[in-house]
Amino acid sequence: MSSVRYPTASLKPHRDESLPGGHLWIFSGALQQAPRWVEAGGLLDVKSSTGQFVARGYYNPQTDIAIRILTRDPEEAIDAEFLRRRVRSAVALRQVFDPAVTNAYRLIQSEGDGLPGLIVDRYADVLVAQVHTLGMEQLWPLLLAPLLEETGAQGIVLRNDSQSRRREGLTVEEPVVVVGAVPEQVLIRENGVQFQVDPREGQKTGFFLDQRDKRAALQKYARGKRVLNCFSYTGGFSVYAALADLATHTTSVDVSVPAIEAARQHFLLNGLNSDKHEFMVADVFEYLEAAHRREEQFDVVILDPPAFAKTQSARSQALKAYRRLNTLGMQVLRPGGILLSCSCSGVVGMDDLLGAISLSAQRLHHSVQLLESYTHSLDHPINLAMPETAYLKAVFCRVE
Ligand code: SAH
Repeated sequence: MSSVRYPTASLKPHRDESLPGGHLWIFSGALQQAPRWVEAGGLLDVKSSTGQFVARGYYNPQTDIAIRILTRDPEEAIDAEFLRRRVRSAVALRQVFDPAVTNAYRLIQSEGDGLPGLIVDRYADVLVAQVHTLGMEQLWPLLLAPLLEETGAQGIVLRNDSQSRRREGLTVEEPVVVVGAVPEQVLIRENGVQFQVDPREGQKTGFFLDQRDKRAALQKYARGKRVLNCFSYTGGFSVYAALADLATHTTSVDVSVPAIEAARQHFLLNGLNSDKHEFMVADVFEYLEAAHRREEQFDVVILDPPAFAKTQSARSQALKAYRRLNTLGMQVLRPGGILLSCSCSGVVGMDDLLGAISLSAQRLHHSVQLLESYTHSLDHPINLAMPETAYLKAVFCRVE
């Protein structure tokens, strides 16, 4: 028996079906009653209605997801050693990256790495962490030592600046360096391509690491072509496309001034002539409408918008927005051109994205061939029992 004893929460009868399969969430409606003797964010054991141990996790009385599971082993205490084992396992998975080629990746992907509520991205020697839940906030102090020691990182930035923290009863905070000296810009390599990441002010944790494999996949379609990169952020897709062939021409469009400025710098950083490429600070919807009126055509169009829906209730609005965006994108694509269309809305599935593309094509009397489909790369592992945590969908299509 584990030496530590935890308070208990009991499930209603037959409410533990998805748990043996590896699902890590228990909704408040599945509990017989609110557990006693446990503080918000505290650890507890979950028992079946017949009193059998089911799992151990942390509790939040404020959220629909009442309990997030950390272990299914009754002998496994949730302590510094437990956290170290999880960090070690996450680090082991990322050994596939040769740091001479790729030294930036997601190190901890929340449920996908068995640490619900925690995101840690690695940028060279700097770790950028986000704590999304009250339970993880309580464990966080125990994570600093394993994170540093298991990775050899020199610094940690804590970015608890996401608005979603309020739902958990947490405060939204300014980014703060909790360990080491962290430079304003961190130079990273991704598939040998260089980028500067701002770990304090950049969007998310500074860079969209989840597009690494799609950026590499894009190169073969981009050689010598005219590429339009919508929602370019700091130019990730554009730089890869431009590196594929010196004859490639890219246009990067984003509403953020610092992002577009960084995109231009990223061309120079990679030895590319930024004067031969276009950088536009603009709303993508307006840009696409204007480009269509000018009858401008591109060989490759990339659509990587921010999440249009964060909740189920916003879903139907979001589907409309995806349809509109994909229609606009197809209108500036030359016949036979390549569309890379992405969605990072968790509540929008792959079928939804393909449906939006398909409807857009129908409207325009185009036909679409689906060429490649992606989710995240291996550094964003998906817990197979929780397909709903696979937020990113990306497809390459040929549109005739
Ligand atoms: N493709 C990027 C990541 C895109 S994230 C990469 O590979 O790094 C989404 C981007 O969309 C953000 O940079 C945000 O500034 C931008 N954005 C959001 N709404 C926009 C709009 N209406 N028009 C243009 N850009 C927008």
